[in-house]
Amino acid sequence: MRLSKFFLPVSKDAPADAAIVSHQLMLRTGMIRQNGAGIYSWLPMGFRVLKRIEQIVREEMNRAGAIEMLMPTLQQADLWRESGRYDDYGKEMLRIKDRHERDMLFGPTNEELITDVFRTYVKSYKQLPLNLYHQQWKFRDEVRPRFGVMRGREFLMKDAYSFDLTEDDARASYRKMFCAYLNAFDRMGLTAIPMRADTGPIGGDLSHEFIILADTGESAVFCDKTLLDLPAPGLDLDFNSDLTPIVEERTRFYAATEEMHDEAAFNALPEDRRVSARGIEVGHIFYFGTKYSKPMNAVVQGPDGQMVPVQMGSYGIGVSRLLGAIIEACHDENGIVWPESVAPFDVGLINMRPGDEACDAACETLYAAMTAAGREVLYDDTDDRAGAKFARMDLIGLPWQTTVGPRGLADGKVEVKNRKTGEKHDVKIDDMLAQLKGS
Ligand code: ATP
Ligand code: MG
Repeated sequence: MRLSKFFLPVSKDAPADAAIVSHQLMLRTGMIRQNGAGIYSWLPMGFRVLKRIEQIVREEMNRAGAIEMLMPTLQQADLWRESGRYDDYGKEMLRIKDRHERDMLFGPTNEELITDVFRTYVKSYKQLPLNLYHQQWKFRDEVRPRFGVMRGREFLMKDAYSFDLTEDDARASYRKMFCAYLNAFDRMGLTAIPMRADTGPIGGDLSHEFIILADTGESAVFCDKTLLDLPAPGLDLDFNSDLTPIVEERTRFYAATEEMHDEAAFNALPEDRRVSARGIEVGHIFYFGTKYSKPMNAVVQGPDGQMVPVQMGSYGIGVSRLLGAIIEACHDENGIVWPESVAPFDVGLINMRPGDEACDAACETLYAAMTAAGREVLYDDTDDRAGAKFARMDLIGLPWQTTVGPRGLADGKVEVKNRKTGEKHDVKIDDMLAQLKGS
């Protein structure tokens, strides 16, 4: 992509109404534009990152055996009356009437819809286990939308729903999602810590929030330092194997949000292992048994011929919130430092002297070669001052910068900079081209 042809409305100043660094940086780099409180347009730069995060989530859901589909944003109220939640949900649910005076709502979540799909088509335990998911916009009329995409009113969520015959099977489905989440967040360059969450009236031990540590997090969290260094299960994990040991390894250490915190248990840890910090919830998984299947009559025939309500769990990831969370975790005083896995472009190519024949020719050659090698390149071919170009490239945080200027070119060289480490070195253009060809 040539910057002169792209749409990247970068601004110099930190917007006054953005309280946290990720929100400031998303506005400054022209990733989002607010329409109303908690409602945003995703401008091209933000949209590219959103799509990459969505794709990682998709790949890890699929790897764990979940199946993608798509449910609507607008729903009829009827199903929510069946589950009893139409009255219970409260003001966070945006209620709408259509032209026939039918009660509609903008979906804050999808348990009712998916349970209806399930009960329509699945009648036998032989079709289980089943895990269906989608990535769709949700609307929750939050009292206090803030921090940009972190707490929006309209936000993108991945929500998966598992269906099993028995509680044991449902626990196995839960463990798959637990491991898939660790892998997905790890791929985004994040250390997400599963913390026991409140299961409400259902009870039990099967609800975890996945928390990223960040000073600007909304909730106070407490955990054992050991958890920060546990590696993710890895992409070669066999999801058909018994995942109990992996889940146990990560749930035997102390980790709790404020609501679940047990001061005495925490203080029993050696002092140097006590981490008391702030956290951002990027995911939440939940086993809720027959909470929806019973009232909505989603039953399957078991091996003994009996009809029983299906066992369900739901598994959410805050896809749009993750942009903010990643920036909170990955930035420095000059701007964003994207992890390679979610960066909007892989390489920023800077032409120091557009109009100079040699510079232009070298840039065109590199641009074509990088693109042919599968790299996404943002080519800064604008007439801006070199200093402004460097500052902008640092601000938008692409993992690699390649700078082409007359001085280096005289020796057939360009400068390559790693955004994260700041390390720079000169590379011969011929070597770079040969390497790109081989990749
Ligand atoms: P929170 O406690 O942050 O209000 P929640 O527990 O109500 O979230 P869930 O129903 O568990 O949210 O939704 C699944 C995921 O969706 C959350 O883990 C979070 O990452 C994301 N999410 C929830 N609400 C918002 C929001 N208002 N804006 C952006 N992301 C959100
Ligand atoms: Mg939650």
